Amino acid sequence: MQKGYDTAMQNHISSVPWNTLALWQEANTCLAVTIRRNQSVMTESRQLTKQIQHLLESIFPHMDRLCREACPDCADICCYRAWVWADFRDLLFLHLAGIPVPDQQLLCRQGARCRYGGPGGCRLDRIQRPFVCTWYLCPAQTRILGDQPAEKQRLLTTLQQIKSRRRQMETVFIRAVT
Ligand code: SF4
Ligand code: SF4
Repeated sequence: MQKGYDTAMQNHISSVPWNTLALWQEANTCLAVTIRRNQSVMTESRQLTKQIQHLLESIFPHMDRLCREACPDCADICCYRAWVWADFRDLLFLHLAGIPVPDQQLLCRQGARCRYGGPGGCRLDRIQRPFVCTWYLCPAQTRILGDQPAEKQRLLTTLQQIKSRRRQMETVFIRAVT
């Protein structure tokens, strides 16, 4: 596991949210009901969600290529030690976009392994994964991108755009429902 991934995540963790099946289902039911009851004021949140989805899908082929090049020879698979989970923005994005929400939170407790990681890689579709799983570029992938500065710049710019729209989506949603 790369130190950057650990550090990035540990900076804002105290415990894993919605880490039991009951809490996960309660959080998702609550969000679904809130969205349904506020359909009339969801337009701006949905527009931002569509933009996020479009931006994400534009970089997935690049992420797939980076994984094809870097992962087969990896001796320290990041997902086996990743200390990451779906946060509120991830759930909000999935609900507003109408994308199936994973059955459970990634981790049940501190120190657990992500339930979606397996020998063949992640079992979730890319669009279902928490954003942290998309924006994290490991050292091997960063090295590959080092030889492709234009592509690296495009990727980093798009990741920033997604981060910014995710913040906006959350702000607009909270304003609409409160
Ligand atoms: S993303 Fe990087 S650290 Fe993770 S499995 Fe692939 S090569 Fe290894
Ligand atoms: S959700 Fe997938 S990509 Fe993210 S940590 Fe788990 S196995 Fe890895």
